Amino acid sequence: MTRVINFGAGPSALPQSVLEEAAKGLLNFHGTGIGVAEISHRSKAFTGFLTSLESLIRTQLDVPATHSILFTQGGGTGQFSAVVLNLLARHRLLHPDLTDAERHLDYVITGSWSKKGADEAKRLGGGTVNIAVDSRPYSKDGKSFDNIPTHDRYSFSPDPALIYYCENETVDGVQFGYEEGDQTSFPFELFPQGTLLPLVADYSSSFMSRPIPRLADHAVIYAGAQKNIGPAGLTILIVRQDCLVDVDAAAKLGAVPVPLSMSYKVLADAKSLYNTPSVLPIYIAGLVLERMKENGGMPYYEDVNRRKAEKVYAALKRGEAKGVMQSKVKEGGGRSWMNVVFDIVGGPDALSKFISGAEAKGLHELKGHRSVGGVRASLYNAITEDQVDQLVAYMDEFTNAN
Ligand code: PLP
Repeated sequence: MTRVINFGAGPSALPQSVLEEAAKGLLNFHGTGIGVAEISHRSKAFTGFLTSLESLIRTQLDVPATHSILFTQGGGTGQFSAVVLNLLARHRLLHPDLTDAERHLDYVITGSWSKKGADEAKRLGGGTVNIAVDSRPYSKDGKSFDNIPTHDRYSFSPDPALIYYCENETVDGVQFGYEEGDQTSFPFELFPQGTLLPLVADYSSSFMSRPIPRLADHAVIYAGAQKNIGPAGLTILIVRQDCLVDVDAAAKLGAVPVPLSMSYKVLADAKSLYNTPSVLPIYIAGLVLERMKENGGMPYYEDVNRRKAEKVYAALKRGEAKGVMQSKVKEGGGRSWMNVVFDIVGGPDALSKFISGAEAKGLHELKGHRSVGGVRASLYNAITEDQVDQLVAYMDEFTNAN
């Protein structure tokens, strides 16, 4: 059987060696004689595995003891709701007398996923959504998500219930900058040091692709597994302990009620086993994380992922110089390491030619998201540097032939 190179945005490629190992686990999980899709989530073999998964994340990302690591389901979309409900409950317990109009939820809008998060907060109510910044007015055409705003453009509320951003916008290909002092980084310096910031970050499409800047300052970091970590069906949460609040006590004070399966405290108290977890995705994620540790952990992925992105952006630049390609994201404006999005100049026929030419070389799933079109090359952890080199060679070939 031939496997192609899968540049899809998610669910996305997984390492071949992990899939081979997982196939064995489907028949016999850790010598139990029972397959992993059949074994009780309360069995010793599985709970032991879950503990080791937690520790593989904690050690590789340097998650401090102030934060719990939780596993749940419902994906990023489930967290659009859960973060609002849990942090509104926390805010209600801290400030019971504020009205909904005085309870602010600050959203940083840099792409379609953060916009969806803000829309869900508006829908749920219980507070007032403040758009701390929207990047579209700063775009090339005044309406696209093609940049990360500079720090002078943000306007936050005093003492909000949450401050929300999406670290990597999978559809639009924009990502917060990474180096200290970079104007496209998240503007941490706008907040007082030493406060328990209600800072929430959607890391769905960049989780564990490089270290997380100022991880300890976050209230909640969440990620669906299906890009860098494993199959769909598992959602990973890093939650600071002051956000594990009694949601029923908050509801008695007037907060929006929180479904128990979404309550961070309920999940934490039950060690992520309040209800049946997604056993098979957890298993495959554990295998991916073991492999990541063997490869050298975050320093290794940070290096490789930086190089992979640099190579593809360099090829894109050569395509732009010949008028064949056009980046969708502004240069210096927060170009994503994970999702490189660009247009092929010449309309739908030119794009089809690029995509079919790529497929003929075994380079698949390069079509951009239906809402933005063009090309999207997703360079998640399972995509090797050699596979990126093949993509770059094809991009150059296409540029030179056109
Ligand atoms: N946030 C980001 C950044 C995403 O890329 C996605 C999905 O691709 C989501 C949220 C939604 O995740 P899910 O489909 O797991 O609900």
